[in-house]
Amino acid sequence: MRPIDNRLRYTSRQFHPDNSIIKVGAGLMGGGFTVIAGPCAVESRESILTIAKSVSADGAAILRGGAFKLRSSPYDFQGLGAEGIELMLTAKKQTGMAIVSEITDSTHLPLYDEVDIIQVGARNMQNTELLKELGKLRKPILLKRGAGNTIEELLLSAEHIMAGGNLEVILCERGIRTFEPLTRFTLDLAAVPILKSLTHLPIVVDPSHAVGTARFVPQLAMAAAAAGAHGLMVEVHDHPATAMCDGGQSLSLMQFGDMMRKLRQLVASTVETTVEATSTSKEQTEVSSLSDLRKQIDEIDVALAGFLRKRYDVVTTIATLKQEQGLPIHDPIREAEILAKLMSGDKEQDDYVKAVFAAIIEKSRGLHTDFCRVDCGSSPQ
Ligand code: PEP
Ligand code: MN
Repeated sequence: MRPIDNRLRYTSRQFHPDNSIIKVGAGLMGGGFTVIAGPCAVESRESILTIAKSVSADGAAILRGGAFKLRSSPYDFQGLGAEGIELMLTAKKQTGMAIVSEITDSTHLPLYDEVDIIQVGARNMQNTELLKELGKLRKPILLKRGAGNTIEELLLSAEHIMAGGNLEVILCERGIRTFEPLTRFTLDLAAVPILKSLTHLPIVVDPSHAVGTARFVPQLAMAAAAAGAHGLMVEVHDHPATAMCDGGQSLSLMQFGDMMRKLRQLVASTVETTVEATSTSKEQTEVSSLSDLRKQIDEIDVALAGFLRKRYDVVTTIATLKQEQGLPIHDPIREAEILAKLMSGDKEQDDYVKAVFAAIIEKSRGLHTDFCRVDCGSSPQ
């Protein structure tokens, strides 16, 4: 790889190697996999609340929605402005999601006090005066790569923010302009592993603005996760066909739910691959620094906790079905089958997995019993 500016200071992996996990609202960015979803622009109270509730139920942690839109044409919808931010704050209160919205002018900053992440759009990536103002804040900034900018220039823009003391920068690859006319932009997925080799900052991928067509978004989202992105930003709308902005690239609520189900499986194996790639042998583990290994553990734990939460939801739904159908709670054959599927042949690892799953299954059985005691009125069969 061609060498890059050796003055990169704050973005370099050597700077604060433990600082790559950014707290956003109640969640984390850079630990596990975070999905940001929502409309291109906030259009109405009803629409943003419908979208927020739906994407949150499907596992998105952060709601996106533009209030100040930078449109190429002055005749297109320019966003609801301050009212749009107010509506995002209402959605935040009603769903508990963290929110992200783009800033176009630093004089609007007072409106963003309760906005969890401030987005700098592709068109403003090199607006250094704006970046310096954001550097004075102490809140996460989602910095999108300009359509005509290099990876190095993206890092230099992040340096502008971080040099002011605001170290919480999230990088976003959203496609660059090439000679390809069939896509809106060309999604540069090589940027993901390259950025990960250069910087400790979290990297999210926006497949929506890159490909520009909703039906191709899920495949690119999966590819971004497989490439090792820390998260995604995806445009979702309750009525894409009549959206006031970027409807053609917005997933419907149902399409988003489908994508999330597929992603969940992929992300589980990607976390494993990432960890394997960084420590394939005992020797490599020994040379890895303690802080790198702790980072890996943190990422695994955040992903694990996410899966346990999902498992909890499914277990309680199963409890309802079993109750309705009068089926027994305890199914030893199925429990043995679950465990058998999880064995790999490595005895030490298998013993570890068996012990942990025994606890998980035991706890789920307890949940069924508790659930039935509270909700079923009579004791379970
Ligand atoms: C957006 O995310 O709302 C947006 C306008 O994207 P970009 O800045 O990447 O064009
Ligand atoms: Mn958009």
